[in-house]
Order: sequence, then structure tokens, then C-alpha cells
Amino acid sequence: AAQSGLRFYSSAVHIQTVGVIGSGQMGSGIAQVLAQVAKRNVILVDSKKESIEKSLININNLLTKQLNKGNITEAEKSATLSRISFSDDIKSVKDADMVIEAIVENPEIKSKLFQELAAICKPGAILASNTSSISITQISANTKTPENVIGMHFMNPVQVMKLVEVIPALGTSQNTVDVTLQLAKEMGKTTTLSKDMPGFIANRLLMPYINEAVQAFDEGLGTLEHIDTTMLLGCNMPMGPLALADFIGLDTCYSIMNILHTQLGDKYRPAPLLKRYVEAGRLGKKVGHGFYLYK
Ligand code: NAD
Repeated sequence: AAQSGLRFYSSAVHIQTVGVIGSGQMGSGIAQVLAQVAKRNVILVDSKKESIEKSLININNLLTKQLNKGNITEAEKSATLSRISFSDDIKSVKDADMVIEAIVENPEIKSKLFQELAAICKPGAILASNTSSISITQISANTKTPENVIGMHFMNPVQVMKLVEVIPALGTSQNTVDVTLQLAKEMGKTTTLSKDMPGFIANRLLMPYINEAVQAFDEGLGTLEHIDTTMLLGCNMPMGPLALADFIGLDTCYSIMNILHTQLGDKYRPAPLLKRYVEAGRLGKKVGHGFYLYK
């Protein structure tokens, strides 16, 4: 069937409605690309009303920018917006064919949410997590349907970045993997497969680099600008590591380092300055202040 192109069961055709939980920077982007590129109906859920309002404004602004540049038409903009509905009630994803979770990077909170989702969602619904570092097997453990649970790790900003890492957990079925790969493709993304290990491929390599830059800054190796400019112009990085940390969110970087540290050993100890900034609420660009100040 695969050769004749009739591999219907593993295609993503039956994924018509996708619930996205968490309307922060990642959830908003995932919802927009699902609606705009993959042309799926999306239910975007967040427990905070302010976050939902912010997300709607962001998506609208980004679409307006594309419209002003002549990249999309007014009709495409309104069609995209009409495919996204917003809710503060998790039960509104009960009829979704798939749910993608993008809430806070905390293992207990995510596990609890997946248990809730498994109970709410219709049988066979695929439950994907956008976690950057938490074990998908652990997230799937208490769902009773681990075959439907998978990691779908988007990059920030989702609208721009071309990659999605797909992470099958210990019990994930091949069908779940195939459908997820296909949906990512229909969202215009290239996929890679990673084993379910801390940080997967991207953050296993990226976070220790960012963490080392924070440590080096704390030791006075160079100023913010000198560290970032060295990597930008000296190593051809598209962004300096400290500006990148601000962009990702220092709380997210800190959580990922903690997971790498706990599971892979001392080599991955979070830089003390990263912890202090998080404690001080200097979480990066999303709050207007991290290593740099944002107006
Ligand atoms: P964010 O802080 O911008 O957004 C998280 C949102 O989840 C918030 O709006 C919050 O109100 C909501 N939320 C928290 N708990 C909830 C719950 N129980 N139910 C419903 N909503 C809830 O964070 P983000 O940067 O979008 O990251 C979200 C996830 O994506 C994390 O797991 C993170 O590791 C992962 N991720 C982040 C990046 C990045 O660069 N920021 C990249 C890839 C993956």
C-alpha cells in the first residue's frame, strides 16, 4: 500500500482539528502554522486569559505584516484567523484528532496535563508534547494510551524555523510516528528523529553552549556584547548565545539545563547566574529584560 501511495491510515488526512495547549510564544506559533500552512482547524487553549489575548494580538500582527509585504492576501489572512478558536477550558479539545501541548517546561505539570488529556480526548487522538527536554516516555506513562503519545519539538519562532524534531517514546506506535511526521511536513517543516533522551538532539547540543556563555559572562571573560559579537562574527552564528538565551527565555534554558544535569551528570550543571536571573524574574525578551533590556 505504501508503494501505491495508498497508505491512508498513516497519512495525516484524518487530522482535521488540532488542539494546542499553551498559547505562549511556542503555542501561538504552532497554532498559526497549523491554521495557515497545514490549513487545519485549531483550538488554542491557555489557562490564563491574558495569554490568550496576547496570542490573538500576536498572530493578527504577524499576519498583518505578511499582508503588508504582499506575501498573503486579505482572504488568506481572514481564512487563517477563522480556523483558530481560543478557549480557557481544556475540555474544548475533546473532539480534536490531535493535541499538541506547549505549556510550561515542568515534568509534573506536563504529566498531569497528559493524564487529563487522555481522559478527555476521543479514543485514538494523538497527544504530542513540544517539550524541549522532558522524557516523552515519562509524560506518556500514566495516560493509558502511550501508543498515541509522541514528542513534536518545534523551534522558536515556529513560523520561521524549518525543523521539527520528532521523538517516539518507548511505547509510541509506528502509526503515531508516521502521522506526526506527515503533519509536520504539511506544516512546511523538515523533520528529524531523535531518541527519547534528555534535550533530544537540538538542546543536548545547544543548551550547554548557552550555559557556557552565561558562565563565561559571569566570570568576566568578556562583556555581553563582546561574547555575543565573538560568536556572531567569529563563528558565524546567526545570533550571539546570550541574545539567543533571552530569545528562548531564561526560565526555559534553566529548566532544560536542570534536566540535563539531573539525568546526564555534573558536566551539565546550570550556571549560577542563569539561576539568579530566573529568580529575579529577568526571563528574557518575553518580559522585556534578560541579559539585555528590550523596549
Ligand atoms: P511560554 O511561557 O511563552 O508559554 C507557556 C504558556 O502555557 C503560558 O501562556 C501559560 O499561561 C500556559 N500554561 C501553563 N500551564 C498551563 C496549563 N496547565 N494549562 C494551560 N496552559 C498553561 O513558554 P514557551 O516558550 O511557549 O514554551 C512552551 C513549551 O515549549 C515548553 O515546554 C518549552 O520547553 C517548549 N519549547 C520552547 C522553545 C523556546 O524557544 N521558547 C522552543 C521549543 C520548545
